Order: sequence, then structure tokens, then C-alpha cells
Amino acid sequence: MSQPTRRDFLKTGALSTFLLGSGIALAGGCSAIQNRGKTRNVIFMVSDGMSAGTLQMADTYLRRKEGRPSNWIRLLEENALRRGLMDMASADRIVTDSAAASASWGGGHRVNNGSLNIGPDGTHHKPLLPIFRDAGKRTGLVTTTEITHATPAGFTVNVESRGMGEEIAAQYYDRKVDILLGGGNQHFDAERRSDELDLYSDFQTAGYHVAKTKSELLTGAQESHILGVFTNGHLPYTLDHLNSDELLTTIPTLAEMTDLAINNLSQSSNGFILQVEGGRVDHAAHSNDVGGLIFDQIAFDDAIAVAMEFAANRDDTLVIITTDHGNANPGHNSSPDEYFDSIADFRQTANWVRRGLNADSSISEIQERVEYATGYKFSREEAEMYRLAERGEFRAAYSRMNSTSAVMGQLLANHCHVNWVGGSHTADYVELASFGPGSEALNGFVKNTQLFDVITEAAEVSEYISDEEAVA
Ligand SMILES: [Zn+2]
Repeated sequence: MSQPTRRDFLKTGALSTFLLGSGIALAGGCSAIQNRGKTRNVIFMVSDGMSAGTLQMADTYLRRKEGRPSNWIRLLEENALRRGLMDMASADRIVTDSAAASASWGGGHRVNNGSLNIGPDGTHHKPLLPIFRDAGKRTGLVTTTEITHATPAGFTVNVESRGMGEEIAAQYYDRKVDILLGGGNQHFDAERRSDELDLYSDFQTAGYHVAKTKSELLTGAQESHILGVFTNGHLPYTLDHLNSDELLTTIPTLAEMTDLAINNLSQSSNGFILQVEGGRVDHAAHSNDVGGLIFDQIAFDDAIAVAMEFAANRDDTLVIITTDHGNANPGHNSSPDEYFDSIADFRQTANWVRRGLNADSSISEIQERVEYATGYKFSREEAEMYRLAERGEFRAAYSRMNSTSAVMGQLLANHCHVNWVGGSHTADYVELASFGPGSEALNGFVKNTQLFDVITEAAEVSEYISDEEAVA
């Protein structure tokens, strides 16, 4: 028997038929789906590029440093979340990128890496935010990356390539996303856009409150439409953010943005969909930056608390907490526990360290900058190895570990014993946690595109799906 297509599934409108037809066993049974409350709201949370070790290290760090578990693991401990494992492969690769990953959830189809809701055959798949908008619900995107980045864009736009940031910003305007919070000024500012379009003034004319600082955001927190763009590129890594009074004053945290977005969007009785992305966990993993990684994962975990505080006492909100792929698969290798604990002394990220060094840096400059940022004193030999990497002369056995970021990551691993398998996304099946009406179907082993089906079915918005043409 061939598996039903999503179109068959839509015709029957029966989630249970689809899932059983796919051979998926539901621990809660189909009756659990039929007996739940109505799904009014959806909060979709993505820690981008979160390997299993990242989830564990953030939790272990918090237990040892603050005497408490992470929210994600605590909720699992309390059996408050359903847990599954998800295959995130794209249409053309075992290892997905964030564009194809987000589009698999946001548009219900596997597309080629780099593409956003345009299939290999050119079909445009209408994504979740326009679907929810057409169903009369409110929509929002919150991220620590540029707001036009692949993960938020995957729920919202149709473009051939994730690199089309200016076009993505324009589609956000056309598609009337209610709340947009993140970085990426360069894609909105007339002085930086290649077409010199002043998107900020377009958004303002359309009734948006435009905020470029945290205080401007708070001033307009109750406005029905908000565009908050706080940096030219991505927001800073949490570790660097927390250690700068200036950045803390001007840029909100992910938890603060999530709180504002939920409070705002939930004013509508028709419900909403909100995507929240901890986007720089991925960047820290790419650059083998242990301080960047753990503290951005903790910032994402803080946002989980905000979302669950809203959802916990309601029966109308589906919360999904997951990641789009592993990245560099960091792990704390066996060593005395104090080595891992020493991460608590970090003041700045490894990215911050590297920004201040170059091929001409002296051994003592390298040693001093690393020690200021991490508390570790590099040996002369370690500093020499880093300088070789800066000069493009370092040779590791695995050639992807020759870069300055990989060499810095490995040298820091001599001290904290967190090391990496590379600097790229990995094929690992990923953690999937969920709460609320609709989550009954998200146990066990799940294919990425099933999330789109579960969300649209649970929220009863399937009639607004259309795959044939691009949507305005
Ligand atoms: Zn990535």
C-alpha cells in the first residue's frame, strides 16, 4: 500500500488516518486527539543547530552553577512534555540546512537545501504564517539572528535562495506579519538595500510601530503591528550581550522578545502562531565556540520558560520545542568536573577573542586576550598553534579543522574538555518536545514534514493551504 499524500490527508481531514496509514503508532491513541481542546495558538520554538550535547551541557551547567535544571529538561522530568525524535533530511541532502529544515515544517514539503518553500519542481508551497493570517489569526517571528534569516523565513516566504534577504524583508511586508523582532537592519534600510527602497517607511505607513532599540520596542509594546530591528546583522551572542552594559540597554534578550510577542499576539481571541528562534546556537557551533554555544542555549531555555508560562494553564496552545539539525556535535569529554565548571568564568565568546586577533598578533597578545575572555592561560605552544591557523598554515588530520575557529575551539578544549566533530551541520535525528492540544501525534519517530500536517490539522486551518502558486 502506498503512503497517502498530504493531499489525500487533507481530503480526509483525519489526522489519525494519516498517521496510522504512515505506520506511525500513537502512544496516546487516536481518541486522545479527538478528546483534546481546540488548538487556538501555536508557539514553535527552534534552537537552531542544537546537538544533543548542547542540550545536555546547558542543563548540566545550570545544575552545577545555579542548582537548577534547564527548563527543557525539567519539563521532561516532570512529564509535562511529549518527546520524540525527528528526521530532518531535506529533498536533496541527508544533512539539511536551516532553510530546507524550516520549510519542511513551515510549508509541509521537503525542498532542496537553501530553498524556502519552493520545491525542486518549482511548486510554491504556501507557508504557515500566510495560512494562519488567512484563517484570521495573528502571526509573529522572533529571533536572535537577522529577522530575514532562514528559520523565520521558512514559515513565511517563497524564495529560491535563503540569501535573498532584501526580497525576504519585502515579502514580510507583503504578507503582513504582525510582529517581527530580531536583527537585520541591512535588509530594511534604504541606505543599505541595493534597490534603495525604504522598507522602514513602508512598514510605518502600513501602521507598524518601528523600533530600533529596546526602549523603543517597549514604548510600542501594545501596538498591533511591530517591526523591531535592533542590529545591522545578527543580535550579539548572549555571553557578549550580558557583558556589555551598552548592548544590554539597547538590545532585548530572546526571552524579553518572546514575552512581548506572546502578550501582544494573545490579545486576539482568534489565536496566533509565533515562531521563536535561538538562532545563534548554530553560529556558535559552526565556529566551535563553547561559551557562545552554552549561553545562547540557556537564553533559548529562558524563552521556553516564557512560552510555557503562557501555555501551561491553558488547553488551547500547542507548543513545539525542537531544533533543525545538529551542528558540530560538541560533547564534554571525560575529565575532572572542574574543567567543565571553568566555563562559568568566561566573560566573552571565542568569536569575540578571534575578532581581536590576526596573523600579525604576537604570542603574548594571543595569550592575554584568551585569558581575559576565558580565564585560561594558553601555553606558548598553544598560542603558536593558533597563530599558525591565523596564517593559514595549520594542518589538522581532518582538513575542516584547520580554520581559526576550529583551532581556537580545540585549544579551548584542552582546558574545558568540550570538543567538536567538525564545523558543519550533522545528520543526527533531533530532539522534539511538545505540549498541548495536537502534541498527541508527536511521540516516537517523526518525519519533519509531519509537523506541518499536525499544526494545520490541530489549528483547523487546512482549508487555507494552497500549493500551486505563490501567495501575495
Ligand atoms: Zn548553520
